[in-house]
Amino acid sequence: MAYAFPPAPQPTLPIKGSDQLFPVHRVYCVGRNYAEHTREMGGDTKDPPFFFQKNADNVVTDGRFPYPPATQNVHFEIELVVALKSGGTNIKAADAAKHIFGYAVGIDMTRRDLQDVAKKLARPWEVAKAFESSAPCTALVPAQQVESPAKGAIWLEVNGVRKQSGDLAQMIWDVPHQIAFLSSLFELRAGDLIFTGTPAGVSAIKRGDKLKGHVDGIGDLDVTVV
Ligand code: MN
Repeated sequence: MAYAFPPAPQPTLPIKGSDQLFPVHRVYCVGRNYAEHTREMGGDTKDPPFFFQKNADNVVTDGRFPYPPATQNVHFEIELVVALKSGGTNIKAADAAKHIFGYAVGIDMTRRDLQDVAKKLARPWEVAKAFESSAPCTALVPAQQVESPAKGAIWLEVNGVRKQSGDLAQMIWDVPHQIAFLSSLFELRAGDLIFTGTPAGVSAIKRGDKLKGHVDGIGDLDVTVV
């Protein structure tokens, strides 16, 4: 059978040092995973992790972030992104590392004003989180080239001014436990990405801003708001 119209292109991430592409399946994001950011959002650091999703085709790598419609308050959230090469259900934290393909630097762009309304009315978060170009990313760095994905500086600058600054070691739920927890809720698969949460210091951006995100051992992500 032929398609009624051409299917949408497969979203992908480039792979550093390779001419192959990583095909993106799903994009999971953990909320409030650094204590200081949890407090700035008004949450409790002892809560279990919670997740939301973005769409695979929200992932962009062209360094341009078109300011989205229907908002006056778009926030950046710099995050370590984990990419899976295999998956399953009920994965033990101790076995999680063998499912990791590699890592990227990403920004979880958020329409904070729409998220605030959604929180107040107990509505879902898609309008705040899963919009076009809401997941700028770098190329993936293969896991075997990453020395210590459990610690290292993570920061973001806007127009050269440091706004967010943290360390991967400050995660409340580390990457293996995020994979274990997610796999108890969903069947994880090769191609899945996990945005692993953001340190404190999130704030609003405007057109023309130049963002630079960094994670030690992974690289830099440069994004211009257009
Ligand atoms: Mn986030």
